[in-house]
Amino acid sequence: MTKPRIALVTGASRGIGRAIALGLAQRGFDLAINDIASQATALDAVAAEARASGIRAMTYHADVASKPEVQAMVARILQDFGTIHAVVNNAGILRASDVEHCPEDYWDSVMDVNAKGTFLVTQAVLPTMKAQNYGRICNISSIGGKHGAPEQAHYSASKAAVMGFTRVLAQEVGPFGITANCICPGIILTDMGRVNLDDPAIRGAWQAKTAMARIGDPDDVAGPVAFFCSDDSAFVTGQTLNVDGGIVLS
Ligand code: NAD
Repeated sequence: MTKPRIALVTGASRGIGRAIALGLAQRGFDLAINDIASQATALDAVAAEARASGIRAMTYHADVASKPEVQAMVARILQDFGTIHAVVNNAGILRASDVEHCPEDYWDSVMDVNAKGTFLVTQAVLPTMKAQNYGRICNISSIGGKHGAPEQAHYSASKAAVMGFTRVLAQEVGPFGITANCICPGIILTDMGRVNLDDPAIRGAWQAKTAMARIGDPDDVAGPVAFFCSDDSAFVTGQTLNVDGGIVLS
């Protein structure tokens, strides 16, 4: 990797986003890490931990579902770092409900953060990536966007949207040296993952469905994301990689 590379990771205060940020820091990326303002303390702690790898790390509070906030955030990152080489659209929410009883605002908020947030952040960084003829966009979808589970239809729809968005994006930006790929985590032990894992019977069932016979750790996702953010994946675009220990087999 030509150093320094600058990566923006959204939703980086905890869980998978935190692990991705720290994984990129260990690989020499400078970091612009984002989360909503209420996560400020946790986000600061991630930045401090990342700096221990000897890289620059700065924090940016923004709701990825808000176009003005996203545009202001990207403008500040460009002032601070000069450019952005890689973006990891990781911020996401899950609000479980079956379809029959799903409140409209569950649908809207899940689509807004997971799908529209990915679109807005990507849109905001494209002029910079095109101008430098280089970019790496890694979108965190989910195996839930392929198979899904009961009470997660709206979440599944939002993650399928991210995959469709990424396939077309890859075609549009490829001529500018920009790649766009998706990671589909499986069942990963985070605050969000606990929705699937609190019940020991459900946890056991997921473990039994997984070839590796264990629940995933956030660090399991960091390496594959780093691959998509690096030059090792220069000729890989429009792809979706399951990082699930072998639940969805292809
Ligand atoms: P998490 O809830 O632990 O962390 C999500 C982070 O995103 C939080 O820090 C949260 O504050 C942030 N966030 C939420 N809304 C935001 C917004 N509007 N703007 C900016 N930041 C926002 O969840 P996680 O398990 O770490 O999930 C990370 C990503 O991985 C999500 O996109 C999720 O859908 C996906 N995923 C998770 C699993 C799993 O099992 N945990 C499986 C598949 C996919």
